[in-house]
Amino acid sequence: MVTAPRSPTGFLRQEYQELVAGSLDWKLHVLSGASRPSSVVDGRKVLMLCSNNYLGLSNHPRLVRAAIEAAETHGVGSGSVRPIAGNMDLHVRLEERLARFKGAEASLVYQSGFAANSGLLPQLVGEGDLVVSDELNHGSIIDGVRLSRAERAVYRHAAVDDLERVLTEAEKKSPSPRRILVVTDGVFSMDGDVAPLDRIARLAHDHGAMVYVDDAHGEGVLGKGGRGIVSHFGLSRDLVHVEMGTFSKAFGVVGGHVSGSADLVRFALNRSRTWLLSGSHPPPVAAACLAALDVLEEEPQHVERLWSLTRRFKEALGAAGFDLGASTTPITPVMVGESAVARRMSDRLFELGVFALPIVFPMVARDKARIRTIMNAALSDEELDRAIVAFTKAGRELGLV
Ligand SMILES: *Cc1c(COP(=O)(O)O)cnc(C)c1O
Repeated sequence: MVTAPRSPTGFLRQEYQELVAGSLDWKLHVLSGASRPSSVVDGRKVLMLCSNNYLGLSNHPRLVRAAIEAAETHGVGSGSVRPIAGNMDLHVRLEERLARFKGAEASLVYQSGFAANSGLLPQLVGEGDLVVSDELNHGSIIDGVRLSRAERAVYRHAAVDDLERVLTEAEKKSPSPRRILVVTDGVFSMDGDVAPLDRIARLAHDHGAMVYVDDAHGEGVLGKGGRGIVSHFGLSRDLVHVEMGTFSKAFGVVGGHVSGSADLVRFALNRSRTWLLSGSHPPPVAAACLAALDVLEEEPQHVERLWSLTRRFKEALGAAGFDLGASTTPITPVMVGESAVARRMSDRLFELGVFALPIVFPMVARDKARIRTIMNAALSDEELDRAIVAFTKAGRELGLV
């Protein structure tokens, strides 16, 4: 008897089942309708406390109208990549508008933040170069760095003294790397703390290194009118060479971008494979992003409201006895400890009408599971109060406070 050959795809089910056994599989939730402060998730009306839609712009009437109008005038697809036939007036206007908003010489828009990091980082450094990265940097930075053939070194999270040690040691080992790049998240998405970019940038300057900051969670949040971390620290663009960001978070739409010198943008668009080889934004997306920049400049109340709700939420949960970690931003991790407890807490919050997901191992250390909350400027006072009551009730039931 001939034994049947082993199935070439048998690992698909086997590896999935291993994830399920370890409770490491993703259980997807379904939103019916728009992402709003009060959303319908899995058929239940809940307060949305884990969306990146910080300012509520994903449903702002000006963005929605801009998208509809652009679909009517420009269609729903661009038809090509930017370097061939997919470079529309809307894309060009968006980049000019973004550069003005950021106070940079030029900006370049990518299809996503992930495409920006994975497309640009491996072009900035290559064989014979050195890249130095915060240990908690986002996965898209890690992938971008892996695509380069540069030597990699990691420094302890937000530790400028450790960055200095790493830079000094690396220089001793290979006395003259061609280029050095220091890369960091601006706001760290799991903890809500802000990178000490002012000190990082000065240290990098002393070592002749480029500085690349991924400000996905700082834009629309930090700095003058939500201009982001470079504005927050008042840093010169001579010290921060690449300010990367995304339209998918506070801006409420989708799309990545980098801002810096005209040299940077010309280099980036000629070299980033994600930019050159992948279709450009549909016109409604580019138009909605343009409208988001208008709203940020003309309606400062959204950023102000985000911060006033954030302060109230942190004060109330802190007074209730919760450990809120090291956050200084609208990302508030409610520290729980064990992964299983974090899952129970999230389930209980959902029953109490609050949608906030647990962040567990391996995304964070085993004993650092948490409910990661993100404030939303569109919440009413009454909705915020309800969320605080639900957290306090669930926390007491689980013996956390
Ligand atoms: C979300 C995020 C990205 C990816 O941005 P997208 O535009 O959603 O692809 C990159 N970096 C950080 C730090 C992020 O939080």
